[in-house]
Amino acid sequence: MHAEDVPLPTIAEEVGTPVYVYSRATLERHARVFREGLDAVPDKLIAFAVKSNPNLSVLKVLQQQGYGADVVSVGEMRRALAAGMAPEMIVFSGVGKTRAEITAALEAGIGQFNIESEEEGLELAELAAGMGLEARCALRINPDVDAGTHDKISTGKADNKFGVPISEAGQIFGKLAGQPGVRLRGVAVHIGSQLGDLAPLEAAFVKLGELVTFLRGAGHAITHVDLGGGLGVPYRKGENPPSPAEYGAMVARVTKDWDVRLIFEPGRVIAGNAGVLLTRVVRVKRGIKDPFVIVDAAMNDLARPALYGAYHGFDAVEPDGSQMTANIVGPICETGDTFAMGRECDALKAGDLAVFRTAGAYGATMASSYNSRGFVAEVLVDGDKFAVVADRIDAGAIMDAERVPEWLA
Ligand SMILES: *Cc1c(COP(=O)(O)O)cnc(C)c1O
Repeated sequence: MHAEDVPLPTIAEEVGTPVYVYSRATLERHARVFREGLDAVPDKLIAFAVKSNPNLSVLKVLQQQGYGADVVSVGEMRRALAAGMAPEMIVFSGVGKTRAEITAALEAGIGQFNIESEEEGLELAELAAGMGLEARCALRINPDVDAGTHDKISTGKADNKFGVPISEAGQIFGKLAGQPGVRLRGVAVHIGSQLGDLAPLEAAFVKLGELVTFLRGAGHAITHVDLGGGLGVPYRKGENPPSPAEYGAMVARVTKDWDVRLIFEPGRVIAGNAGVLLTRVVRVKRGIKDPFVIVDAAMNDLARPALYGAYHGFDAVEPDGSQMTANIVGPICETGDTFAMGRECDALKAGDLAVFRTAGAYGATMASSYNSRGFVAEVLVDGDKFAVVADRIDAGAIMDAERVPEWLA
């Protein structure tokens, strides 16, 4: 098995395992296909959702594709800037922007704040006015649609923490638009992630279109609408989420009379299938029923299965053609550290290499150092060359940041 033209065993040999491996060509292809899907949208900004894969080199690839960034913290903003993304192409979302973060983003001159509450809007207005600035803003709307995705990544139902209720949007918009320090010029939605169906997105966009008409009727100039991200990717064979072309056609149809700049915030659909997590089998342990294939990657490196019960394809790097049924687990002392139970997979033995597929989004970015395992390394492949684009941070380096106070010594 190769990543582009690089044999995965070469990477395992030189960098060690576990390691995330990303393909530059795949990232570029996904960025192009998503953009081309939106060819019928005349005025747009595509802002990559940095939280899905914040690696600097990944951001650099997307910057070179003309992408901006959707960020949810100042840490992510700094990454986008470091990757060369223009401040005007950065959108700042998130329910818990602190005063320090808002100030830093104002200083950087980012393109748009997506305000998630009246309280946040008033604070932003006060801070911006105090700096003699006018912040470009959109109000994030909670459209109360069920995205039909996993509860933990659904964001557009009335009881989710995101945005302002659509029923109060007109009134809150009016109040915030009158504040010095903000130029409230649009609205935003993002209803959830890993959406396998366009219907909830379309329902949200239709509601947003009605709101735009209403706000214009109330005398507000609406020039920007942010449609968020959320398009799903296939994790298993047979899964068939809507393509960027189908998504783009729906968007073009619903928004054709809006006369605004549209902002898109794709994450998973760009990065998900552009990466794998390469791991080595530590040993195979007999089980009551199926054997346990214990790999050196764990839930701290790839959290999605433990967090959401998510499925990742799992294949041998050098399959011998035979199959086994196995429980795929990591070494962490928690039963949640299980990637799959009773999985039909390539036969594996101690020392063999394997990959978890579709790990380019919400993979390394969610890593922790649980069980003092350190942070996993990341590699970017380009044709026949590759580079370590994030060093492995070993447990010792993390321990170096800790101190025992004198009064305890
Ligand atoms: C997470 C997130 C995204 C990206 O979602 P994907 O499903 O990865 O496309 C976009 N916008 C906001 C506000 C988000 O929180």
